[in-house]
Amino acid sequence: MPVLSGLSPEELVKTLDPLPPFRARQIFKWIARGAASFNDMTDLSRDLREELSKRFTLYGSNIAGRLDDPDGTVKLKIGLSDGAVIESVLLRDGEGRQTACISTQAGCPAGCVFCKTGSLGFLRNLTSDEIVEQFLHLRSIIPNIANIVIMGMGEPLLNLGELRKALDIITDPRGLGLSKRRITLSSSGIVAGIRELADAGPDLRLAVSLTTADPALREELMPIGRANPLPALKEALQYYQKKRGRRITLEAVLLGGVNTRDEDISAMIEFTRGLDAAVNLIPWNPVEGMTFRGIALREPETGEIARFSRELTRRGITVTRRFRKGRSVSGACGQLGELGVNIVIFF
Ligand code: SF4
Repeated sequence: MPVLSGLSPEELVKTLDPLPPFRARQIFKWIARGAASFNDMTDLSRDLREELSKRFTLYGSNIAGRLDDPDGTVKLKIGLSDGAVIESVLLRDGEGRQTACISTQAGCPAGCVFCKTGSLGFLRNLTSDEIVEQFLHLRSIIPNIANIVIMGMGEPLLNLGELRKALDIITDPRGLGLSKRRITLSSSGIVAGIRELADAGPDLRLAVSLTTADPALREELMPIGRANPLPALKEALQYYQKKRGRRITLEAVLLGGVNTRDEDISAMIEFTRGLDAAVNLIPWNPVEGMTFRGIALREPETGEIARFSRELTRRGITVTRRFRKGRSVSGACGQLGELGVNIVIFF
């Protein structure tokens, strides 16, 4: 049966034809309000509710599991209609702000060596309803989620069409009405996708996972960097800034003893030249069994993080450091697939 959660009011009008358009708008509102079924839609007649439930389904996914971290992080396993399972995370910061971290793909083709999701391989892109429903499922736990980070499983810029549709629905003032300014997309640095984002939107905050600006090391750590080399990536980011006028965030997942060398610090400083960018340092969250060049990856030591941060700050670069959240439920950066969030920004 056709799923309605991923349709805009205009698409709902067409799908529900010959029902009058105001019925489509009512149903769109009910989905945004978290109606569990057509039966909840009390301003529709009983006959109409029955008729609709024979022809359509509101949602195509379900909550298949939930893990709670003592720090307030909640990780959901979400079952999709074809049996695939994805993960979404609810993060809470110390000031009471709630952020939904959502996935855009089942698995990920980028293959970053430090990421649990990347190690799972790629299954498929998510559809707009599967993206919208992650937000709805998280909102059924905490109703007042004000921020979204698109940093869960998958590379969002490789599924921009469906993501755009989903964000149009999530930000539609006739429904959920979330502000686009409260949405951050984190990419592994897909050059064509950044240019498309610059040209056609959506107009959200952009973060790029650089990891290191040493080209050879980056290509080893993030194989997708081979097709998206650093000079082309920097040009795309400059193009994006010219068109959108927005500061970007460069993220570096710090891997102890791997990308915390002097060369990595100098390369990062060099890469930020000519960009309006802040650097977000993210201490790698341990995932068992992950190795690089045959050696087990490890968390960076406090001194490695402090030195990286100090050197960047000395050059006038704004540096932020990631809070550690959700580690006991594997809901932290790079851990999804056990459930992997690769990036989290707090507003
Ligand atoms: S870090 Fe992001 S882009 Fe890289 S493999 Fe993991 S989910 Fe994919």
